[in-house]
Parts: sequence; structure tokens; C-alpha cells
Amino acid sequence: MSDQRSRPTMTLLADLEQFASDHRAHGPLTANATEPAGNGYLPTVVCSCGVLFGRWITPEEAELDLLCEAFAELSFKNHPRCSG
Ligand SMILES: [Zn+2]
Repeated sequence: MSDQRSRPTMTLLADLEQFASDHRAHGPLTANATEPAGNGYLPTVVCSCGVLFGRWITPEEAELDLLCEAFAELSFKNHPRCSG
């Protein structure tokens, strides 16, 4: 129970890849995110078929560089941390 910190991001990346794999054929994926706050932010991706993928990310658990790479592959151009 002491290694929980590394799990959410790994799960997020795996889930994101799974979502993209499952839904990429349906059409463009539309990405968005809340403004980063002190306690985290909420990136979302919506498929053309209407299914939404979203996960709350806290600064402690977020590997933002990895997330930026993953979201960039999904044309996640609005990612607030990727532009700077
Ligand atoms: Zn879909």
C-alpha cells in the first residue's frame, strides 16, 4: 500500500491509450482541460461517438511530461501544460 503514488498516472496512461485505441476509428477526438489549480486539474477527451474520457490529476500523482506526450498524440492541443 506504500506505492500508490505511481499507480494513478500509469493507470491514466494505460486507460488513455486504451480509449484512443478503442475510439480513434470513430473520428476526431476532442480534448479539453480545466485550468490547472493548486489541487490538480481535469483533462478530458471526447470521442465523436459521444464517449468521454476524463480523469482528475493531482500535482503529486501527475507525470505531466508523460501526460503531455500522451495527449499530444491525441492532438490534445489545448493541454495547458504542453504549450509552455
Ligand atoms: Zn468512440
